[in-house]
Amino acid sequence: MNNKHELIYEGKAKKIFTHDDADKVKIEFKDDATAFNALKKEKFEGKGKLNCLISARIFEILIEKNIPTHFIQLENENTMIAKKIKVIPLEIVLRNTAYGSLCKQTTIKPGTSLSKPLIDIYLKNDELNDPLITKDRIKLMNILSSDDLELIINLTLKVNEILKSFFKNIQLQLVDFKLEYGYDLKNNILLGDEISPDNCRLWDLNQKNGTIVSLDKDRFRNDLGGLIEAYSEIHRRINNFLMPK
Ligand code: UDP
Repeated sequence: MNNKHELIYEGKAKKIFTHDDADKVKIEFKDDATAFNALKKEKFEGKGKLNCLISARIFEILIEKNIPTHFIQLENENTMIAKKIKVIPLEIVLRNTAYGSLCKQTTIKPGTSLSKPLIDIYLKNDELNDPLITKDRIKLMNILSSDDLELIINLTLKVNEILKSFFKNIQLQLVDFKLEYGYDLKNNILLGDEISPDNCRLWDLNQKNGTIVSLDKDRFRNDLGGLIEAYSEIHRRINNFLMPK
């Protein structure tokens, strides 16, 4: 990274740098993977680049459908330029199919198709282990207004409709995903962070015998192996669909 740009923040999977324009940032995607609140860590060469390229394509699809996002453009294969936002400390998870923590915390069986999307909201706070949070607690903590919370929930439902049908085109089932939002300098709410196999569960619909084949971070979480192969496959399917030869 160009050293005239200062590191503003380093997260588990990304580094944020200043940009010449004060209302923009550079986001560099790292090769590190973490799970279980960073108790489990590993480096996967090429993951940063794949997530950056996949996220960029997905943001472009969402922008075309009028979803406000922070994405501006790619700078190189593992860095994107984005609008500077103040991140709202909430993780908005949308589930189409039951899996992961939903099945650990309830009696719902893994793989159950949900009759309508379920939104689970978590407080973004590593020290507290990102707890599941209620609307009333969000209000109590003055994190954002009820109107803005409704806006974020409705945007998330819209993103789901767009991405569910996009991924279906490339034989992927969008099981669940996590979004983060923020306020830009004019106080507009924008979709931020990344949208990649690190924060979406994607199952291969090409499997004929009904077995679940995860092409996402569950390959790392559950020690399945083949993470880079899975992310590369997603990248390849997206590119083939958007730019057929
Ligand atoms: N997720 C995420 N970051 C988190 C927690 C979850 O991106 O800190 C994503 C995860 O990849 C999945 C969805 O949110 O697509 C739902 O995850 P879940 O609550 O089932 O938690 P997990 O099983 O990953 O612990």
